[in-house]
Amino acid sequence: MTKIVSAKIQKKSGKASKKSFKQTLQDFDKNKNKNQNKINKNLKDPSKKPNKYSKVKNGSNNVTGSTAVSVPSSSATSAPSSSLIQGSSSKLSSLQHQFLKKLEGARFRTINEELYTTRGDVAFQEFQRDPSKFEIYHKGYRDQAALWPVNPLDSIIQWIISCHKKATIADMGCGDARLAASVPNKVHSFDLVAVNTTVTPCDIAHVPLATGSVDIVIFCLSLMGVNMPDFIKEALRILKINGILKVAEVRSRFGDNKGILAFNKFLQRAGFEVKAHDRMAQNKMFFEVECVKMTDEGIVDDTFELKPCQYKKR
Ligand code: SAH
Repeated sequence: MTKIVSAKIQKKSGKASKKSFKQTLQDFDKNKNKNQNKINKNLKDPSKKPNKYSKVKNGSNNVTGSTAVSVPSSSATSAPSSSLIQGSSSKLSSLQHQFLKKLEGARFRTINEELYTTRGDVAFQEFQRDPSKFEIYHKGYRDQAALWPVNPLDSIIQWIISCHKKATIADMGCGDARLAASVPNKVHSFDLVAVNTTVTPCDIAHVPLATGSVDIVIFCLSLMGVNMPDFIKEALRILKINGILKVAEVRSRFGDNKGILAFNKFLQRAGFEVKAHDRMAQNKMFFEVECVKMTDEGIVDDTFELKPCQYKKR
């Protein structure tokens, strides 16, 4: 069973960070490359007793003992996850499968942690430099989400279909853009990497939409960067007056009830009227708030922080 816990990791501001995002991921990649080399060696080593795994088809040739693991050329510095292993994952031994699962899990947790402890613009540069990180992150995210009793995106989709069919929507941090695919509305989908042509790749602190152009802004589990107040500023900019902001977040990021009230206050000072909050109070995992933009004259507290969230190793 998946457990999302509030992180004990220290939050780092972009400047104060002891280790840069880039550095951390490079260190991680180094270790993962070592591990991947072991896998590759194991798969290639002709001294190992030949078995069904050492014979793979490569193009039109039957190649014995050739590598069964292909590393995407776009990501020479990154170890592949099993999702990136082409045509061979079903032929791996169960031990190799377990090892790859662990590798994948570790990479997912590292990328997740980095997204919560770095600025959005830095994350954007990093994901653009190496889009395979997005794939690894989302494979891990999907695996986790499959174990949740409810996915907050489902209730947001239902809410839009039943109450706001005609609204123009901005989905900030859209992931695989399931929201856009599930509602009849005009949806502008934004994320660090575009999974398809409906998504615009960008940092959600700066989306390419006109001021006052949308009716609803959604952040579903996507207030991840340490400069989260910049994302709220951007939501205020693109929302029409009387437009709706909807946030769903991991409950443990607020600490306790006081943290939830502090978040509501932060939104009120920013210029929102909090309409409904904690509709999902019976849900111990997620918190949801819906509010309406009342003014452009609010004050967004740049120092406001949410705790990072960690997916516990299982
Ligand atoms: N909202 C989606 C995905 C949630 S995962 C869903 O509910 O299914 C969080 C998403 O936010 C990830 O896809 C991540 O890439 C994105 N994200 C985090 N910080 C971002 C930023 N600064 N700019 C754009 N996207 C961001």
